[in-house]
Amino acid sequence: MPIHFNDLDVVSEVEGLSSALIVPCNMCPAVTVAVRDEKPFMQFFRSFLKSVPFEKHIAALQSRLREKGVNTSVFRSNLYHQWFLCMWTLGRRKKLRKYAMQYEAVVVLGCDSATETVRDAVKSTDCKVIEGMEVAGIMNAQLKFHLPCNVSFDDCKIVPISRQKKQEGVPIVDSNS
Ligand code: SF4
Repeated sequence: MPIHFNDLDVVSEVEGLSSALIVPCNMCPAVTVAVRDEKPFMQFFRSFLKSVPFEKHIAALQSRLREKGVNTSVFRSNLYHQWFLCMWTLGRRKKLRKYAMQYEAVVVLGCDSATETVRDAVKSTDCKVIEGMEVAGIMNAQLKFHLPCNVSFDDCKIVPISRQKKQEGVPIVDSNS
């Protein structure tokens, strides 16, 4: 099941900046927001391959940042195979780098692995990487399909991540090395 998140204070992190690119992972964060808002994750007839609650969440974040004088855009990942930031292709990462160069910061909506993808993509730029969410645990829920063509998660519980992963300073292990 997907990772569950808490929101982090992005507004204070962008203090003094004038532009930011929001990079959302469309899977776990979108499920988190849908569960939190008690709305369907997907309504295929209303918004094909877009999670309406998550779209509203992103729009609200953009609005809060605009009030602080920060212009934002969203780096959209509309195709299903682009949804998971942890598994982006090299081409996708290069495309993010090209876009990110036009902004002072990138705001990542996703887990530590999503942030790693973004950090790696923009490492040779001056972009500040800001985490917009923190991991709260792993979700345990019942997947439900209902008419007309909606997908929801019911009876959600948040299961804590194991002690080892919570320890600070656990290095990222490169399986090729
Ligand atoms: S990058 Fe993280 S948040 Fe996104 S799908 Fe992968 S595990 Fe979930």
